[in-house]
Amino acid sequence: MATTTYINGHVFTGEGFTDGFTIRDGFFAVPEEGCKLVDLKGACVLPGLIDSHTHLIPAGLYALGADLSGAVSLEEVFSRIESALASPMTAQPFACLFDETRLKENRFPALRELDDVTGTTPFYMTRIDLHSMMVNTAFMKKYGLEGTSPLIRGREYDLMVRCLGQEVPFGDKKRGLLEMEKKAFKAGVTALHTMEGVEDDFSNIDALLELQGQTPLGILLYPQVMDLKGVLERGLPRIGGCILIDGSLGSRTAALSAPYYDAPGETGRLYLDDEALFSFMRRVHEAGLQMSFHAIGDRAVRQLVRGYSLLGREAEKRHRIEHAILVQDEDLETIARLGLWLDFQPMFHEFWGKPGGLYEQRLGKERARQVNRIRTAAEKGIPFAFGSDCNVTPLDPLGGIAAAVSHPVPGERLSVEEAVRAFTLYAARIGHTENLQGSIFPGKKADFVVLSENIFSEEDIRKVTVRETYIAGECVYRAEDHQESV
Ligand SMILES: [Zn+2]
Ligand SMILES: [Zn+2]
Repeated sequence: MATTTYINGHVFTGEGFTDGFTIRDGFFAVPEEGCKLVDLKGACVLPGLIDSHTHLIPAGLYALGADLSGAVSLEEVFSRIESALASPMTAQPFACLFDETRLKENRFPALRELDDVTGTTPFYMTRIDLHSMMVNTAFMKKYGLEGTSPLIRGREYDLMVRCLGQEVPFGDKKRGLLEMEKKAFKAGVTALHTMEGVEDDFSNIDALLELQGQTPLGILLYPQVMDLKGVLERGLPRIGGCILIDGSLGSRTAALSAPYYDAPGETGRLYLDDEALFSFMRRVHEAGLQMSFHAIGDRAVRQLVRGYSLLGREAEKRHRIEHAILVQDEDLETIARLGLWLDFQPMFHEFWGKPGGLYEQRLGKERARQVNRIRTAAEKGIPFAFGSDCNVTPLDPLGGIAAAVSHPVPGERLSVEEAVRAFTLYAARIGHTENLQGSIFPGKKADFVVLSENIFSEEDIRKVTVRETYIAGECVYRAEDHQESV
């Protein structure tokens, strides 16, 4: 029986600090005489990082497309498409992250230009905002779109994305998952929660259930469908994820209690009426499942909190609200009273919370200071965890920790310790897996990361990177090896 004790570290267990820990058979254990010693030489160690909100299968598929980000000319776009087509990673080849505003030509290609590069292979490329795509002639033929514009947007875009999603073969999903596994290990992520499925479509849920055991990465599945029967049939103890209570601030579909600053006539919309939502919540409650919903605007959070209030306090279920970007004070009080959990994405304010950024544009300066109130939530005793919403922001908990400790509103900043907990212990608790993971403690799985610097004392924590990632005591990533292979 191999027992190893790590010594001379700067170890944050999730609860407090120590200088070492012991591993036996893939689990943290109590130290014993005569075991192998590993000298950490002062390195900083954290429990394995847990991202409590991702969309793994879509993110994985996306990672397999030709990446057009940063291209500055059509010539560059075409050459990247050409090399991707030489060895396509997916059954239906595509490119993503196209941004015409960064090209010197400042336009989409002409259909003829795209056809010249792609030939007879059906091909599409999605725009960076994921609200439109351009397709070639072969694609239009394949999908009966002849005579329409090669630029697909709005409702047609959503329908096309859904149709393409249903055609994705299992092999592509598996390849995508392996891509995400690499990214996860590099980022120190040893476990994550993934929200899969859309409307009544279980294909990604079933693919995930099949793939789950094929990776050491800990994957907790949230089926984000409203078909309770289908979820119960699969024996899952939870339902939800990004089941939409409202939309997003970017597209002005997040439901606000007061109009958008940059569109005074608009307040966004609620996707479900009270009756449909509340009766669904009642059925989930009666079935005894944990549930979770996406709510961004304060009017959406209000509706959801009303729904939870009707069920009474069920703190042991740890029901979730995803994002909770804008929340009124009185709803925070109710959230605390009901024992609901909030799942925040600290990178959101890094991306959109800067002066002049999206939050200010949509909400005006004053309301923009009221978003992502992580510290206020903590002070009110509301339990919370952190996630990336990957692919919306990258799988990068260290980046998320940096964002949480440098929140644009100083009063909403967390300490490094508290931010680390939100990506470890709290992320385990929100998924009911704290007996297995989330901290360095005898009996839990030996998931941990070794960092390049001490994140608790480093002045610029954005410099801190993952040096090694361990799952069940096995090293799954070592930065050194990757530097050599480049
Ligand atoms: Zn969402
Ligand atoms: Zn999401």
